[in-house]
Amino acid sequence: MSQLHIFNSLSGQKEPFKPLNDDHVGMYVCGPTVYSNVHLGNVRTFISFDMVFRYLKHLGYKVRYVRNITDAGHLEDDTNQQGEDKIAKKARLEQIEPMEVVQRYTIDFHTIMQQFNALPPSIEPTATGHIIEQIEIVKEIIEQGFAYEVNGSVYFDVLKFNESHRYGKLSKRKVEDLIHNTRELDGQSDKKNPQDFALWKKAEPQHIMRWPSPWGDGFPGWHLECTAMSTKYLGERFDIHGGGMDLKFPHHECEIAQAEACNHGRSPVNYWMHANMLTMNGKKMAKSTGNNILPNELLTGDNPNISKGFSAPVARFFMMQAHYRSILDFSNDALLAAEKGFQKLMDAVGHTETLPTSKETSFGITKWKERCYAALNDDFNTPVLIAELFEAVKFINQVKDDKASIIETDKRELQQTMNAFVFDVLGLTSASRSNEDGDKLSDVVEMLIQMRKEARDNKDYATSDRIRDELANMGIQLKDGKDGTTFSVGS
Ligand code: AMP
Ligand code: ZN
Repeated sequence: MSQLHIFNSLSGQKEPFKPLNDDHVGMYVCGPTVYSNVHLGNVRTFISFDMVFRYLKHLGYKVRYVRNITDAGHLEDDTNQQGEDKIAKKARLEQIEPMEVVQRYTIDFHTIMQQFNALPPSIEPTATGHIIEQIEIVKEIIEQGFAYEVNGSVYFDVLKFNESHRYGKLSKRKVEDLIHNTRELDGQSDKKNPQDFALWKKAEPQHIMRWPSPWGDGFPGWHLECTAMSTKYLGERFDIHGGGMDLKFPHHECEIAQAEACNHGRSPVNYWMHANMLTMNGKKMAKSTGNNILPNELLTGDNPNISKGFSAPVARFFMMQAHYRSILDFSNDALLAAEKGFQKLMDAVGHTETLPTSKETSFGITKWKERCYAALNDDFNTPVLIAELFEAVKFINQVKDDKASIIETDKRELQQTMNAFVFDVLGLTSASRSNEDGDKLSDVVEMLIQMRKEARDNKDYATSDRIRDELANMGIQLKDGKDGTTFSVGS
């Protein structure tokens, strides 16, 4: 069988995959900042790495998969680390505790990951749960001479670091070109050089998310948490670090610098993997621009960019049809096509069990299986794998129509292999089940809407309000319009 090769963003090449510890793999993926609902773009990145996790496990590796939750330190302006903390801002606007924001969107994230059949990571640490570890790293970087304190904040000295190391090696940027736009914002003027980035920031009196430190009350810089949590759970050097392409700079570049500064220049990660963006109407899906579709809108069809709802497995299949390093554009037509393909694949998988067998097989199963593995071993090439699966679909349908034949043992092998790739590795599930559940839910809610209407007609407002409120508690919102009452699922 061919060997797994991974495209390493650091070298810009596909490299044979050799874990540091025989059959154990350590993988860290940057998780969401839990200040709002994840959109389908975020979901794509997490599904890409879920497929990587699944395939490594399928190959027999024991994988420790760490994916963090960012619940502090991520400021509004990612590049310059300026502005308000994203979570604190949401808490201020909604007049709730930051940890209420964190709780709400962490639950939302987990629900969505489950709907899309993503396996939970082995460890899911939070930034606020690792403040002490982050402070320790800052102390170490200061001790090594690569950071300085000014007015209660600590900055990483990029120019100093670059004298003996190479800052910019991941994003292939030159330090001289990295003079960030020097807008005069809070704290900016404290830096020695505009390239420097914050390891620890002094908390102004109004900043509510704050912790004591040797430099006074403050909060960690966003890049620091991933260095602290990856090192704590995977060691100073580990196999795979992943995240969306947009995190390469500055986030991952700064992670490398922080780790090398404390680790005598030893690079922390063997394989850097970056998943590409989901776009809509040719532009990146993003929370800030509003050019996005939420998973719930996808499921219910409640978004102007789609003509109807699509199930999570169909969306997952749509994503798997593209290579994780390619840009994928979301559109109604593409989803409709994916739905057809998905159904055809699932029908064929369902038929394998009852295929009639005969005395010979008119399909090269062994070679086909090798080609399936070769596809995934070539940097997780899921579109090529899916093309191979459709070769098998064609054959299965021919056998069904008596135009091809298969012997019993091959039938079992075909079935096992199809199931392994479709369900275990691509993580697809039968959409019909979730559709049926959705239909049942809709029937039940329609019945309650009718009962509420009858209660109102009888002026029994206690009952009608109770139906509305209890549904709201379950996350089902009723909307009264001139054409009657409709409902939506989700907060
Ligand atoms: P955030 O919560 O903004 O930190 O993002 C969580 C993850 O989603 C990161 O790995 C981002 O790179 C990724 N991401 C953000 N926007 C997109 C997009 N349009 N397509 C794919 N991944 C994205
Ligand atoms: Zn990170």
